[in-house]
Amino acid sequence: MDGKNGLKVTIDPRRCIANAKCTTAAPGIYVLDEETGVAVLEDFEGASVQQLFAGARACPTQAITIEQFGRRMYPQIQPAMFGDPKPGEEDDETTE
Ligand code: SF4
Repeated sequence: MDGKNGLKVTIDPRRCIANAKCTTAAPGIYVLDEETGVAVLEDFEGASVQQLFAGARACPTQAITIEQFGRRMYPQIQPAMFGDPKPGEEDDETTE
C-alpha cells in the first residue's frame, strides 16, 4: 500500500508465521487472511501511523516492512560491525 505520508507497508508472506502478533497490536488494521492464514494489511487508509508501526514492531520475524518515500523506515538496517569483537584480546606476535 502507498499513500499515507508517503508510507508504503509491505508484508512478506514467506516470513509470516501467522502468530497474530500484528493483528493483536493493531486490530482491524492487520488481519489474518482466512484462506492463506498469513497477515494482510486490511485497512491502510483507516490506520494511524502509530498503528502501522505497532503492528510492524510486534512481528517477531520482521515480515512487515515500512518505507516512506522509498526509504526504509522499519525494520532499520543495521550497520556493519568493524574492529576487534573482543577488545583486549589482540594478537601478540612478540610472545617469548
Ligand atoms: S506478527 Fe508477523 S508473523 Fe505474526 S501474523 Fe503478523 S506478519 Fe505474520
